[in-house]
Amino acid sequence: MKIVDAEAYICHFPLREPFHPSWIPGLPSHANSAVILRLMTDEGIDGVCSGVAFAGEWKGFPELIKVFLVGRDPFSVEDFVQVLRSAKVIGFRAWFVEIALWDIIGKATGQPVYRLLGGARDRVKAYASTGELRDPETRARDAVRLVEEGFRAIKLRIRYDDIRRDLAVVEAVRVAVGDEVEIMVDANQAWLIHGFGPYPKWDLKRAMTVARELEKLGVAWLEEPLRMRDYEGLATLRRFTTVPISGGELNDDLDDFRELINRGCYDIIQPDVTFAGGILAGRKLAAMAEAAHIIYNPHTWTNGLGLAANLQLMGAIPNCTHCEYPYDPPGWTPEGRDAMLTEPIRIDGEGYVNIPSRPGLGVEVDWEKVRAHGERVL
Ligand SMILES: [Mg+2]
Repeated sequence: MKIVDAEAYICHFPLREPFHPSWIPGLPSHANSAVILRLMTDEGIDGVCSGVAFAGEWKGFPELIKVFLVGRDPFSVEDFVQVLRSAKVIGFRAWFVEIALWDIIGKATGQPVYRLLGGARDRVKAYASTGELRDPETRARDAVRLVEEGFRAIKLRIRYDDIRRDLAVVEAVRVAVGDEVEIMVDANQAWLIHGFGPYPKWDLKRAMTVARELEKLGVAWLEEPLRMRDYEGLATLRRFTTVPISGGELNDDLDDFRELINRGCYDIIQPDVTFAGGILAGRKLAAMAEAAHIIYNPHTWTNGLGLAANLQLMGAIPNCTHCEYPYDPPGWTPEGRDAMLTEPIRIDGEGYVNIPSRPGLGVEVDWEKVRAHGERVL
């Protein structure tokens, strides 16, 4: 089998309401922006993948990468990973392209990717991953609604200047949902986006103070309390507290995670297959984590295709416990998040996400919608 052609779009799917991500303070999102790449093979099988876009930053890239894709056997994943490693050298962090190869491999073999790479589970417990900073009363009301919708776990952002405001949100939600619902908190300190609005910068002492309080609130994990390569700080914090420490959503490739794992930084690593090296790298990182008794719960906050790709990995590996389900209405909804798919990915009645079981990534792209909201760049 050979790849014979490719097409690509830069899409801006409008959101129903503006969304205010806590990790980019001062810059509301009005659209779910994505680059979508489709590879065609000589056997009539297509593979698709998507990466996050902001403006037109991916414009020239599809043409550049097409040279390396056309004529290639889509099963030669290891070889192509090295092409993407080279792309990073010249400024394109394009690991997501590898996912399209797995979509093809799955379709060619008639299996969803997760069954080809381990077949560990058919569904995974979802946590509603909220994204905005909201006052304690509002968040408590939101949380009750999420539980009514079926969620058994909720992630909150703690990113106020004042620690007391952060803790007040977690306390209010704990009181509102009781002890049976899991609460995760994300400080988004690993990578800071500067230039739009103010944001807090945590240090080890603040992280320790917060972790001690979160212990009392029975929090399932504290995510990204420190910078992404503060190995010493993270390892010290992890030894200091009983709250599991998680992170790694924007670290990438094997050597980066080798350091995080070997230095004892995290209880839970969160590489996202679209950012961290692709699906095969995710499978390798899962094994590295497994050997160190570390959980691997991928970050998924990109879009529906990215969520689908990470779900396939979650289904493949033994050490995954939770699926990040990005959801914070009215701005960030399944319909907006998965706008490029024919159907949004949803949770079942018990708060789990079923791993899409059709061949490949298991989801279908709505090409009419992609063309309607996208600019063709290849
Ligand atoms: Mg996060």
